[in-house]
Amino acid sequence: MANSERSGNAIAHVYRGTFVHSTQQTAVQILEDALLGVNTQGKIAFIGEGKELQRLSQTFGFSTSEVTQLAKHEFFIPGMIDTHIHASQYSYAGTALELPLLQWLNTYTFPVESRFKDLEFAHKVYTQVVKRTLRNGTTTACYFATIHTDASLLLGQIANAFGQRALVGKVCMDRNNSVKHYKETSQESQDETYRFIKELSKKEYPLVKPVVTPRFAPSCTEALLVQLGAIAKNNNLHIQSHISENTEELKLVQELFPNSESYTDVYHKCNLLTDKTVMAHGCHLSDKELALFRETGASLSHCPNSNISLCSGVLDVRNVLNHKVKLGLGTDVAGGYSSSMLDSVRRALDSSKVLKIQNPDHETLTFEEVFRLATLGGSQALSLDDQTGNFEVGKDFDALRVNVAASDGPIDLIQHEEPKILLEKFLNLGDDRNIVEVFVAGRKVVPFTEPTSA
Ligand SMILES: [Zn+2]
Repeated sequence: MANSERSGNAIAHVYRGTFVHSTQQTAVQILEDALLGVNTQGKIAFIGEGKELQRLSQTFGFSTSEVTQLAKHEFFIPGMIDTHIHASQYSYAGTALELPLLQWLNTYTFPVESRFKDLEFAHKVYTQVVKRTLRNGTTTACYFATIHTDASLLLGQIANAFGQRALVGKVCMDRNNSVKHYKETSQESQDETYRFIKELSKKEYPLVKPVVTPRFAPSCTEALLVQLGAIAKNNNLHIQSHISENTEELKLVQELFPNSESYTDVYHKCNLLTDKTVMAHGCHLSDKELALFRETGASLSHCPNSNISLCSGVLDVRNVLNHKVKLGLGTDVAGGYSSSMLDSVRRALDSSKVLKIQNPDHETLTFEEVFRLATLGGSQALSLDDQTGNFEVGKDFDALRVNVAASDGPIDLIQHEEPKILLEKFLNLGDDRNIVEVFVAGRKVVPFTEPTSA
């Protein structure tokens, strides 16, 4: 009897061609003429060489005639992981980028977010953002919704229906908001967080989980932060928030939390820094604060488009990596104007080069390193690297089938190119036209099939 039958994991699909992914040791590993099998549970059952076809087909019990062969300019990469995106801000993405953070929140963000009380509006925006990000190759998204529990639940339902892996956060904020109808009391914030977690968990969506979401320290009283830390701990949940994005915000945090040594210390004291925490930005963190991230296992989401668009700062990713802090990339829609992780990859490279212009001794990031941040790094930042991030046996098959030479695509290939060059061209020049298929946990989610219950 074949191994696969013994374990009850029959093979559903086998692909043959080039696979490109990252490992802990190698930023870009290229497997040419590889064979990858996905079982009926959507997990990677094996990865081997093309010449092993006969042996693998016998071991895993599949027919060699059922193997899907990739074309010459095609390859698979792991699905990209957006570690920080505001689903609720998608409606004004691409606009409103002339104000600094605190003024931007009051002028644009809070008035728009207040509209998500209306579930019809929420349904429209959330469907569009889930579809757009999937089409752009985001197989996992860590979402901020709004303070509205029912609309946040709807976001979870839509992500599930379209097959996206998602962490979904009902936003908590009990102070410093000038917008009249977009407020909650501390008690409401706690109660609704409990209700959100309970109701979302009850749905038992396989790929969608709740994440405890204090907006950021200036929006929350210390009492609320302490409560949210306790909720996350007692329910073993993910946590997301923002930290050290711009200098005006830093001053405000110092004023609001005079007894804390640093911005990081504010969260740490409230038990909000854990190995399941992801904090967006961190542009202005001190080395001492980075050490605290390392110690607690908390991670950073680097959102370069947003940091530049709102003139917030430039994160020194090299310094973060040298401190061995987990780090992924985020789009931070709509502070970042693009919902594409390819944009995030490009802006991360640009930001690194800006630091080099300012200081010739700065060691810039390579495109290989940034590719790893967009995939494996993101999975580690979200503590989901046991499930996704690269093509390791046992992980879910979250993957993009990329065709660099897509006939209606933006890339012209003049001559034969090696896979690494094809990857570099895709990262720098490609778009959704090059992403011909998207898989999450083995299921083909792009091109879209109509969801059953969105
Ligand atoms: Zn954000």
